[in-house]
Amino acid sequence: MSLKCRVIEGGLCEITQEYKPGVHYGLDIVGPNYTLAWETAHSDGEVVAVRTDCNWFESGSYGNYVKIKHNNGYYTLYGHIAYNTVKVKVGDKVKRGDVIGYLGNTGESYGAHLHWEVRDKNDNKINPTPYLDADLPKEVELPQPVERNKNVTQLQVIESQLNVRLDHTISAQSIGFCPVGIYNIVSEYKDDNYTWYEIEKGKWVANDGTWCKLLPAEKNEVVLTKEKYNELCEKLWQYLKENL
Ligand SMILES: [Zn+2]
Repeated sequence: MSLKCRVIEGGLCEITQEYKPGVHYGLDIVGPNYTLAWETAHSDGEVVAVRTDCNWFESGSYGNYVKIKHNNGYYTLYGHIAYNTVKVKVGDKVKRGDVIGYLGNTGESYGAHLHWEVRDKNDNKINPTPYLDADLPKEVELPQPVERNKNVTQLQVIESQLNVRLDHTISAQSIGFCPVGIYNIVSEYKDDNYTWYEIEKGKWVANDGTWCKLLPAEKNEVVLTKEKYNELCEKLWQYLKENL
């Protein structure tokens, strides 16, 4: 049975190979009922890379391909496009549904298909399956540093390439590198390798002991002077006189 999908003209497709981390970082797709078809842009965006000169089998290669950067910072990539059918060039603005090329067999391909990838802002290949017929994730803003507040313990991020993740696990999605600076700590989580700090709701950074530094709260000791002591005694005396 055909699946709904945005990257094949007509909106239906078959999947011939699933995404599998470490093995296959995309979805292999053909037209409905295993037909050939035109490929369409998943979402609005700008074409950032194209190859059009491949007319042969090439080991470890996408063959002719199109890569689009979308408005949320994510990328989609369309591999193995048929020779002489690529319809876009670098710098073109595309709209969702625009035709970009025809299903082909160029590069490392053993039968015409679309090898379709979704990549996050850091160009990491992520599981494309949830997005076959759905919008890419909304843009998530990176956390921004705050002022030092000596009344509370804060976190100082000193590593400039520390990922901000949407959960406290190394496999959770990254939304980019955390700007170096000071952050409030919303909550904390320890696993075997890292202490995780939630620095804004739902945004986590890991610390291995060197990437971040804790800035402890400074104790506010109240010094009781003789004058203050006398003043408090006077207040207490007044209170006792009025209430007893
Ligand atoms: Zn593939």
